Amino acid sequence: MTTTTSPPRLPRQMLSGGASVAVRLPSERGMVAHRPERDTRPAPIPGYPGRNEQIVFAACSRDDGECRELTASWADHLGAQACTEPACFPEADAR
Ligand SMILES: [Zn+2]
Repeated sequence: MTTTTSPPRLPRQMLSGGASVAVRLPSERGMVAHRPERDTRPAPIPGYPGRNEQIVFAACSRDDGECRELTASWADHLGAQACTEPACFPEADAR
């Protein structure tokens, strides 16, 4: 007897409406999609002291560094699984 466990998928309601998620590269099947948190910091562009850039983190693991932001529907299409940490998508379930 085999049991198949599906990885948690992104909550359905995120897939419409253009919600975005944070993933770490490389983006590949089975990558984990986190709830994005954004921050701005001065952009390291010499000669442009007033510039800021926006960086994206995973809500559950800010200290792990920057993420790439994708739309939830695209991440789901790519086979991303949802991070079920309380800070991300604890409501995610297999479907
Ligand atoms: Zn997470």
